[in-house]
Amino acid sequence: MTENTKVVTVHGCIACARLFDILAVYAPNGSLVGCKVTNSPDGHIVPDQRTPLVACNTHTAAEVEAAYKRWRSRNGKEAHHQEE
Ligand SMILES: [Zn+2]
Repeated sequence: MTENTKVVTVHGCIACARLFDILAVYAPNGSLVGCKVTNSPDGHIVPDQRTPLVACNTHTAAEVEAAYKRWRSRNGKEAHHQEE
């Protein structure tokens, strides 16, 4: 397989859990190539190496960063896949 895989999943904002649809593109080796919010202009992607993450545009950069740190500590170093 040489084609990238596109998957649409629902993710909650990392700061307030508001739901967004995210289109994620994975390379054949499973790494995350890119992702974007498909159903709303009010959310944006929070860069992460392997998981699509989203935050509302209404949160400040500092709020998003703090939420991202909480998310990282909650998820630890494990690569478990915690949501569909
Ligand atoms: Zn939010």
